[in-house]
Amino acid sequence: MSNRPNTLYLVVPCYNEEEALPHSAQVMREKLNRLVTEGKASPRSKILLVNDGSRDGTWKIIHDLCDRDPAFAGLSFSRNYGHQSAILAGMMAARQHADIAVTIDADLQQDIEALDQFLEKYQAGCEIVYGIRNDRNTDGFFKRLTANGFYGLMHLLGCRVMSNHADYRLLSKKALDALAEYKEVNLFLRGLIPTMGFSSDVVYFDVKEREAGASKYTLRKMLTLATDGITSMSTRPIQLITVLGFLVSVFSALMIIYCIADWFMGRNVPGYTTSLVVSLLMGGLTIFSLGIVGEYVGKIYLETKARPRYIVESFIWKDGNSQKNDKNNSEQSE
Ligand code: UDP
Ligand code: MG
Repeated sequence: MSNRPNTLYLVVPCYNEEEALPHSAQVMREKLNRLVTEGKASPRSKILLVNDGSRDGTWKIIHDLCDRDPAFAGLSFSRNYGHQSAILAGMMAARQHADIAVTIDADLQQDIEALDQFLEKYQAGCEIVYGIRNDRNTDGFFKRLTANGFYGLMHLLGCRVMSNHADYRLLSKKALDALAEYKEVNLFLRGLIPTMGFSSDVVYFDVKEREAGASKYTLRKMLTLATDGITSMSTRPIQLITVLGFLVSVFSALMIIYCIADWFMGRNVPGYTTSLVVSLLMGGLTIFSLGIVGEYVGKIYLETKARPRYIVESFIWKDGNSQKNDKNNSEQSE
């Protein structure tokens, strides 16, 4: 049934993954081999490991894998740019050679066996296939709470994000080419990709425990992702500030009329509590609103500078058949 071209690139972001990577790479390699043998992916398919400025031995592992086996390709950033940039860089590099790119985490938490379903949906005509996790049982209480809160807030702000879709996703060449047209620095792929349209479908998969090592998503990284997500997808917070400002102004006007009336009637109430509460409330609201506006101004500042979203320090890509080791490989780099 494989009618559409099917050179598959698995794009794997890796940040300090020396503990998980050796095993993950092997599992991915075996899976790719099976897909190739079954005719679901072309023998030119590869696993592209993106080193997101790791401080441990991750790049050395990637380098060794690429040296031994042309089915592996490696890309290394000059520093840590974050998960979103890593998968974007991987997809953009894959675009040169692949018909299909699937992004998957290096810790194998996302079920790699779901790949068959992704490819079936692609063959059925989908340009984008979203992986949706079945449940959040493997997450701790805190992660579940923050994730649900975040998706709830995003929906409230009118963003089309899919709940429980992390970045396990298939993009066809057509979708990759469309994604390349987006030049924004403030990147939130989960929100951006659904806005591109195209025929798409979802695949449900189970989330497993991390294979090895600890989560690389610190609270700070999660908060950054959440703010990026909101500010890159919605300007509704600024609109809400306007509405809030209007309501507060109406309230203040009524208060002024009330005070003047009081003054004319000769009522002199001390009113200490009232004024304190009102000024504290107003101070808090003003600073909070300024903060939100500042967040957007900051993002505009970054966008206008149009700095590169990441810097690729090295790229290893060898021509060769992924089904078996080919001795006549020529090394290329971009
Ligand atoms: N990752 C990355 N850059 C970062 C943080 C994470 O490339 O700055 C990668 C990490 O190596 C992994 C994926 O993003 O492949 C997801 O990270 P992790 O598994 O630590 O997140 P969690 O599953 O805990 O949300
Ligand atoms: Mg993980």
